[in-house]
Amino acid sequence: MSYLYKTPRLLKWYYPDLIWDYTSEEKCIYLTFDDGPTKEHTNWILEQLEDYNAKATFFCVGNNVESCRDEFDNIIKKGHTVGNHTFNHLNGRNHSLLSYIRDIRKCGDVFKSKLFRPPHGRLSKKQSMVLTKDFQIIMWDVLSGDFDTNLSGEDCYNAVVNNVVNGSIVVFHDSIKAAPRLKVALPKILKELSDRGYTFKAIS
Ligand SMILES: [Zn+2]
Repeated sequence: MSYLYKTPRLLKWYYPDLIWDYTSEEKCIYLTFDDGPTKEHTNWILEQLEDYNAKATFFCVGNNVESCRDEFDNIIKKGHTVGNHTFNHLNGRNHSLLSYIRDIRKCGDVFKSKLFRPPHGRLSKKQSMVLTKDFQIIMWDVLSGDFDTNLSGEDCYNAVVNNVVNGSIVVFHDSIKAAPRLKVALPKILKELSDRGYTFKAIS
């Protein structure tokens, strides 16, 4: 496997200006959903969250918001928060600072947010220094792996429930690719963590 479910401490140390988790005494978890909205899955995710009175944060791609306005409005209406995830889902490593920033601004023209998450988690030190002036850059400490077609929904469930601690930020995907695993894992994760006494909060 080419990635870890749990973010290594060294990476957190190298990028101290980015937010990897929230130290908390409270039993609360920050669920995040990247890459949406989608006509196919956003509303389903919202229903699952509602069943547990859970709030979450959706890192939306500007281009998808333009084509799924109703789903985007539902996210806001249900009391969740949204973050900028670029307009075209750009990988920061493959783009100059200028074209990367331009794409983030284009997403900002579609909807406003002070939160940003880099697609693929890829961000140069220079890009991060510029972006922290305008955004809180939200990373994660637990990866569900729902994008990985070699995993099962059960694997994703285990990755999350075995790795979260108070204040963890967990990544899922609101995408067609991740859906087969998300549909299995998310309801079970919400149930298990609720049973353990966790609440779910949006990043604001
Ligand atoms: Zn993404």
